[in-house]
Amino acid sequence: MSVQVYINGKFYNKEDAKISVFDHGFLYGDGVFEGIRAYNGRVFKLKEHIDRLYHGANALMLNIPLSKEEMIEVVLETLRRNNLKDAYIRLVVSRGEGDLGLDPRKCKEPTIICIADKITLYPEKMYEEGLEIITAAVRRNPAEGVNPQIKSLNYLNNILAKIEANMYGALEALILNTEDYVAECTGDNIFIIKDGKLITPPPYAGILVGITRNVIMELAKKQGISVEEKVFTRFEIFSADECFLTGTAAEVIPVVKLDGRPIGDGKPGPITKKLLSEFKEYIKNEGTPIYK
Ligand code: PMP
Repeated sequence: MSVQVYINGKFYNKEDAKISVFDHGFLYGDGVFEGIRAYNGRVFKLKEHIDRLYHGANALMLNIPLSKEEMIEVVLETLRRNNLKDAYIRLVVSRGEGDLGLDPRKCKEPTIICIADKITLYPEKMYEEGLEIITAAVRRNPAEGVNPQIKSLNYLNNILAKIEANMYGALEALILNTEDYVAECTGDNIFIIKDGKLITPPPYAGILVGITRNVIMELAKKQGISVEEKVFTRFEIFSADECFLTGTAAEVIPVVKLDGRPIGDGKPGPITKKLLSEFKEYIKNEGTPIYK
């Protein structure tokens, strides 16, 4: 059976799942999205993802015509239709079909899409060996523009950083904000560990406030590890004991080198490994059941 894709209340075979070329999500990147995971028959932190989607939509004055409960049902039904227990889910709400002008008032109805599929972001061995990343020249867009806290369909800034990573043969790029402080990577949040303490940039540093980030902060606190949200520079990554990234697709992945400089002893560190295994345990039993 072909992959079943949800579009505005109906399911379509993947080949027939099409939207208008006049959709402003396509023409202008006008919309919001979420990347969500299902593990072992449960959707991980579904409510948190739905809340972030609606907060972003609200900031863009995009009125989603479904209640949050209905949107949760869209996600669960998409998984059921595809018989999935473990999946990566892409939920998209665009401004909808309009004309060639950018005025959102011309778009009468948002387009809602839900796709459930698989994702592998980084090769498996990177979780054991750790990533070598580079710093992108492109900066995080400031909050005065499209606030990075909005998970908007406009990912060009991140894509430009990813192109830089590709050029240097790295799998990820670190993005600084316009004040030279560390923000995040193209699709992940960043953490460093120094003297046994976990440090991560605060929301105002220009980050998407990651749901995995929040889970890791919680798990660390439960382990008695102190967690601090504060701005830091690239130099503090060079001099950190450990470093790792978090994200829905990436989960928790160690970083062992930044711009050619080894971090700590250049190997995934013990706290990173511990948090990675705690995270693996945590996802097994958490989440909204797909099948009742
Ligand atoms: N930052 C950016 C730019 C992202 O795209 C993502 C992935 N959604 C994250 C951070 C991590 O967020 P989360 O843990 O909610 O997936």
